[in-house]
Amino acid sequence: MQNIPLYIGNKPFPGTGKKFNNYNPGTGDLLNEVSSASTADFEKAIESAKQGLKIWSAMSPTERGRILHKASRILREKNDELALLESQDAGKPIREALEVDVVSGADCLEYYAGIAASMHGEHINLGDDFAYTRREPLGICAGIGAWNYPIQIACWKSAPALACGNVMIFKPAELTPVTAYKLAEVYKEAGLPDGVFNVVQGDGEVGQMMTSHPDIAKVSITGEVGTGKKVMAAAAATLKHVTLELGGKSPIIVFEDADLEEAVNGVLLGNFYTQGEICSNGTRVFVHAAIREKFLEILVERTKNLKVGDPADPTTHVGALINKNHFDKVMGYIALGKEQGAELISGGNQVKVPGCEGGYFVEPTIFASAKDEVRIVEEEIFGPVMSILTFTEEEDVLQRANNTPFGLAAGVYTNDLRRAHRMVAKLQAGICWVNTFNITPVEIPFGGYKQSGIGRENGLAAIEHYSQLKTVYIAMKDLGNPF
Ligand code: NDP
Repeated sequence: MQNIPLYIGNKPFPGTGKKFNNYNPGTGDLLNEVSSASTADFEKAIESAKQGLKIWSAMSPTERGRILHKASRILREKNDELALLESQDAGKPIREALEVDVVSGADCLEYYAGIAASMHGEHINLGDDFAYTRREPLGICAGIGAWNYPIQIACWKSAPALACGNVMIFKPAELTPVTAYKLAEVYKEAGLPDGVFNVVQGDGEVGQMMTSHPDIAKVSITGEVGTGKKVMAAAAATLKHVTLELGGKSPIIVFEDADLEEAVNGVLLGNFYTQGEICSNGTRVFVHAAIREKFLEILVERTKNLKVGDPADPTTHVGALINKNHFDKVMGYIALGKEQGAELISGGNQVKVPGCEGGYFVEPTIFASAKDEVRIVEEEIFGPVMSILTFTEEEDVLQRANNTPFGLAAGVYTNDLRRAHRMVAKLQAGICWVNTFNITPVEIPFGGYKQSGIGRENGLAAIEHYSQLKTVYIAMKDLGNPF
């Protein structure tokens, strides 16, 4: 067992707050002991960030981009090592971690490295006078991560923040403390000055230190809706900028003219990847009545072929849920689905995986529900549980798809071009996919409508959320006495 300290000023810093254990969700094995940040430790992180900000914000954007570029390269070189750590820390299948988690983080660093130097202001012609705008950093930004995509989230928050000249104090979720620390080491190796990326460990209490500290200019959190509300309320006291990437209950709508195999591919990806622990998952699958039977036949057969197993086994498709509490929550929803009259079509049971007796595994589960007003259809489960709903009319399915306080994502499967565009124009979701699902390259903005969030990550949109505009008015002639 190792101790994971904090990372402040480009070096490990022994936390003096409470200690907690870090487990492998696949096996239940104890991996590490982690030191939380105390209030005094957090002040050290703030001091370090202030020093880092002086150096980093004074560097040219090209120099900043060069360092981010190098960090991206190092991440790719360390892909296998970091993917293994991520799989062990988060319980996700190693095949996913090798393909997605670190690579998508590296893509993000590379993208913002590339645009760092091309961020610019505007020149505004006022006749003789003129004005220009400068895009300036906000200052010290706080990043707060969820446990499902730990290194990806740390990259999605830090890369645009750093590219804009900010510095960051990042807190990973208590359940997945490992790879944010590793990312800090990568940044250091790439030449990031001291204090520019600091990692504090701990639970929601440390999160609250971040949301209440007057020297923090912005908080970006990925987490549940309830946590997002607390963060926004706390940030209001000092009017911090906030980016909230929160939960969802997204619809996937499969029309009668869709390519059924492709629709099944999207529905499987959008429900069972990462054991269903993905915020944008399309857990409400609306299927046109005319193709329902055929669609279900293909879906159920393909679902039964998914291998639930040891996350370390490269043939595993569906890994372990993050911990027992979460497993209990997911199984509770499965019981509730049955109680509230939904028909269990596939799965629904715990899976015992030999050699992984300490892990919590759940079969990919498909319910069909005649009603939308049942809790498994209305609430975010964050596990491998989908609900099949049936429709016949476009207007009706649109209204039902939008009938939720969430608005993170939506998917439409149809080969009718006009219908596709008509639907996405009316779907209340921050990201809509047509004939695919859950593909989130860094080039495109990602974020929620309604209670799924505020602000956007990725794409050029994230730059708006990590910088502020200064307007400069230049007088070319005298104002003269106004009175
Ligand atoms: P939580 O909301 O429980 O936690 C998110 C982070 O916030 C954790 O680091 C947590 O610390 C911290 N935190 C908890 N309370 C506070 C507080 N009062 N102030 C500041 N920080 C706090 O989410 P989960 O980690 O359980 O992640 C799952 C959720 O995240 C799901 O709802 C999912 O939909 C959402 N999510 C959203 C994404 C998006 O981009 N929209 C992407 C991925 C997930 P700790 O856990 O250590 O206690």
